[in-house]
Amino acid sequence: MSTAAERLAAIRDEIASAPYGADATLVVVTKFHPASLVQELAAAGQRDMGESRHPEARDKAAELESLDLTWHYVGQLQRKKARQVARYAHVLHSIDSTAIVDALEGGEPGDELPVRDAFVQVNLTDDPGRGGVEPASLEALAERVEASPALRLLGVMAIAPLGEEPASAFARLATYADRVHRIAPTARWLSAGMSQDWHVALEHGATHLRIGTAITGERPTTP
Ligand SMILES: *Cc1c(COP(=O)(O)O)cnc(C)c1O
Repeated sequence: MSTAAERLAAIRDEIASAPYGADATLVVVTKFHPASLVQELAAAGQRDMGESRHPEARDKAAELESLDLTWHYVGQLQRKKARQVARYAHVLHSIDSTAIVDALEGGEPGDELPVRDAFVQVNLTDDPGRGGVEPASLEALAERVEASPALRLLGVMAIAPLGEEPASAFARLATYADRVHRIAPTARWLSAGMSQDWHVALEHGATHLRIGTAITGERPTTP
């Protein structure tokens, strides 16, 4: 049995030597895992941590505040919770509606949030219930984020759909990233790739890999 720190080192090496991997940012997704695991990864030099469930993420970020980690929120954002998430999450990967941008901007006087880095999430499935903006509305949302004083637009994020080859999904995603890049030239980052498909995501331009189980091991099941 390997430890999480050993798997982290192995994946880091794999990414560094993969085509297009040298400059990629590795975000280790630690949802469902205890703060102690995050601590173990931090002790092994990992700084970027991903979470997808509020308030679990909030509690971990608070408990580990002294480690000064960079927290990435990769889960679906709810309009009503968005401001709470943006208090502890430095990078928001899942902006998928203008209503969320409105919420992030709409604090009471004295309750301003720090400016946060943001990806616009695009839905690669035909199911509108999935997270992400539909491709037809991508430019409008990206323009809204780009113009927002609350956010700094980094680029586009997506999850490869089940039941489709990741290569075809990520090829489509690359065209969406280009569309956003055209209207926001500084938004050149692309958040894509998980434990099973990160190699393919890199080939299609991913700059931020969100890897969970390949490093953390299987997630503990919810009680
Ligand atoms: C859980 C999660 C990941 C990591 O998935 P693994 O398959 O465990 O690597 C990446 N992105 C998002 C949005 C997630 O929710």
